Formats: sequence, C-alpha cells, structure tokens
Amino acid sequence: MDGVATGADVGALETDSQTVAEWVDAAGRYITSFLDGLEDAPAIGPDLPVDMVGRFAMPPKEEPGRFDVLLDTFGDAARYGMETAGPRHFAYIPGGGLVSSAIAELLARLVNRQTALATPAPGLVAMEQGVLRWLCTEFGQPAGAGGLVTTGASMATLCVVAAVRHHRLGEDFGNGTIYVTEHTHHSVAKAARIAGFRPDRLRIVPDTADLRMDVAAATRQIAADRAAGLRPFLLVGTAGTTSTGTVDPLLHLAALARREDLWLHVDAAYGGFFQLTQRGRDRLIGIEAADSIALDPHKGLFLPHGTGVLLVRDPGVLRAAFAEDAPYLRDVGAAAMLPNFADLGIELTREFRGLRLWLPLHLHGVAAFRAALDEKLDLAAHAHDELRRMKGVHVPWRPELSTVTFRDVAGNTATHRLLEQIHASGQALLSSTSVRGQHVLRMCVLSHRSRAEHVDDALEVIRDAASRDSPVTSGVNRDRM
Ligand SMILES: *Cc1c(COP(=O)(O)O)cnc(C)c1O
Repeated sequence: MDGVATGADVGALETDSQTVAEWVDAAGRYITSFLDGLEDAPAIGPDLPVDMVGRFAMPPKEEPGRFDVLLDTFGDAARYGMETAGPRHFAYIPGGGLVSSAIAELLARLVNRQTALATPAPGLVAMEQGVLRWLCTEFGQPAGAGGLVTTGASMATLCVVAAVRHHRLGEDFGNGTIYVTEHTHHSVAKAARIAGFRPDRLRIVPDTADLRMDVAAATRQIAADRAAGLRPFLLVGTAGTTSTGTVDPLLHLAALARREDLWLHVDAAYGGFFQLTQRGRDRLIGIEAADSIALDPHKGLFLPHGTGVLLVRDPGVLRAAFAEDAPYLRDVGAAAMLPNFADLGIELTREFRGLRLWLPLHLHGVAAFRAALDEKLDLAAHAHDELRRMKGVHVPWRPELSTVTFRDVAGNTATHRLLEQIHASGQALLSSTSVRGQHVLRMCVLSHRSRAEHVDDALEVIRDAASRDSPVTSGVNRDRM
C-alpha cells in the first residue's frame, strides 16, 4: 500500500520472547528506581513547562520507536505535578498504590480475558467473586449479597442510583426524591442528574453542629415531600465525608430507611475500609444495615487509581435494571454459580479487574491491611493532638477516621497562605476545603507509605509555617524541594 512508507512488515505487532524479556527488564529497572526514589521525592514535582506539553502530546509516528527512549519519556512526564504515590501525600484522599496490585494489573492485561460474562473466564470470575464475597462478609451483608468491581465510587454510585430508580420508581420516576446533606460527595448529585432526575429532586437535609445528617430534619423533610405528592425512595449516608471524614449516624439512618421504606445507600468510598479494624467497625456501626455500599479500594485498600466496588444486599435489583438479552451473546451461556458482571452494571467488555484486589489481599494477607489501616487512625489522632497544641492553629473537629482538619486562627486568607507555605516546603501535600464558609486545610492520612516520620515531618512544617507571620517562604524550606 502506498500509504505505508516505512515498509513495516505485517508481523511487526508480534514480539519475540527475547524482546519481551528486554522490555520487562527495562520496566523492572524503572519500577525499582521509581520505588526507591519515593522516600525522598518532593511532595510536589516541578511545574510542567509549556514547551514540554507539546513534546509529551506528540502524535505517534509511522516509524517504530525505541522502548527505552519511550520509557524515558514516560518517566519524565510522570515527574510533573503531585507525587501522589509518595509518603508525603496527604491531600484529597490518597491511597498510595500497592506495587503488588500494579504487577497484578500487568498480568491480568496480559491474558486479556473478558470478564463481562462468566463463561469465557470462569476461573478468573470466581477469583473476583471470591473477593466480593469476602467484602460482603466484612460488611455484615447476608449470604445472597453480591457486588461489582467498578472503576471507582462514582461509577458504583451511578449504577446504584440508576438501578434503585428502576426498582423503586419504575418508568415514571420524575417525582422520586433522594436525601443527602451538603457534605455528601458530588458524585451522588452527578449520578442523579445522569439518571434523569431534576436537580431539586436531590433534597439537601440540614446537618447537625458536628456535620452529620440531622435525622429528625430528614424525617420531617420526607413527610413533607410525601404530603406534597413526591416519592421519597433513596437515602444516602456517608461513611467518611471527603472534606472532614465525618460519619453520618448510620444506625439512625438505617432505622429511618426501614420506617419510611427507603433504600439506604452508604457512600463509604473514603471511610469504608476502616471496617477492617475494630475501631473502624465501632465508628461505622450501622453500615451492615445498608442496602448498598460504595467503596474505593484505590483509597482505603491502597490500590492504584481506577478501582471501586459496589456491594448490594440484593443483586437482583442490579440485574433487573441492567441485564439485557442480545442475540450475539446467546451462545455464551451461564456458568454455574458465577455472576455475569455485565448484568450487574453499565459496562459490557471489562478487563479482569479482580486480580488487582485478589493478588495483594492473598499475597500480603488481610492482617497486613488491618494493621496499616489501624496505623492510619493512630497517625491521624496523633496529628490532631499535635495540631491542637500549635500556636496560631485552630482545630475545629476531632477526626473520626484519618482526616484531620485545621485552619489558621487569623482567618481564610491566612489559612490559604498557610497552605502555600506548607507546599513550598516540599515536605507535605495537603489540600483545602470549605466548610460553612470557612476555609479549612485537611490532612488525610491514608497512603500505605505514609508512616509516623512522614506525619511528623508534615507537622513540623505546619508548626513552622503557622508560627511565622510573613507570607513568603523562607529560603531554608525552598532548598528542600
Ligand atoms: C472519592 C469519593 C467518591 C468518588 O469516588 P471516585 O472513585 O473518585 O469516583 C465518592 N464519595 C466519597 C465519599 C469519596 O471520598
């Protein structure tokens, strides 16, 4: 063909085993040097210069490239922005990214099995289902419960809102109402919008002084909505809000949902995996009564980004909403006792997501996860105690889980400046939020790599910055970048 000027041979996409071994070697060297560098990597990498954007965004050439050169380009591109894999990442909700999970991912992609339906890969689907069953047990769900591994909690939430709409409201769902608080993650509002609900069908229930859903107010709102001809159907509680890590009163919400015949969904994307610890179970009490639970293994199970989980008491509700019969899939059949994941969610073709969970859990053992999560609760409690002792810092709430919030006593502008100073040190990556009009900094301890020494480094930087009045950072800290 004229268009192919390079004379590439038609077999060029096959790779001989020696070349594969060289690639794996080179990738292995990158992996170890990346991991070795994390301890000393600054929390925030350099800014990406404008001319580099063009270099990284370069379209592919007709001619083949060299693996080592391309690997260098990738490694170079990865240096910019935030070091979200490192131990000094306390912003948003970190997770770290277990290397065992990354290796699992490579292997899962290598065999390239389709796990939409059970028949093409029954052994692999059984592995994934085993992890889901284990999670159901940890969350006190009954024997018939099930779940779905998604790309994140947003996708899990969309699945559940769409399925519960179908289950509870049928085709005429315009009058259905959903109950949240202003601290509920925006993925619920997004899911409601995608599922076809008008914005005012999302009812923002007032919260109490400690930022939890006010159950009495929810009860009144539900009654008023029913009286007005609306159809309350879904109550959303949060097990660890993103801003402050607050847990809604789940036991009371469960009782309310039962009384009012609402579906109780618990967004446990951030806080859910603390269920693996005794203290966490005490704080999340009531979660076992949920009809559905959204989890983010890429947060509290320390997995690389891109893995969420939806657990449901009755997977039949998902099946009723999502199972389709297609003539081109009829010969695939059903495998005994194994779910067809495509029937439980929105996606059809899906990679073998289960290995990302299965390998780390079996390899490290569950006790290692429990211990790491326990440690994060300890570290957050320690950070809270230290912050309370600092001059110039106000700590508005005690952490229930592993998110500590604080602000500069001098107000919003000073708090903003405080964050800039902390970041200039390179020793900690934090983030900010706004609660009741107040600018608040948050330190979320959840990376498996964040240990006592990293938390102490961060606290030292905060202490230093908070005690200084000048808005500009000192040269000493700059040097540590
Ligand atoms: C992170 C988070 C989400 C969204 O999850 P994604 O995995 O980013 O889609 C939802 N709810 C809470 C409480 C979260 O912390």
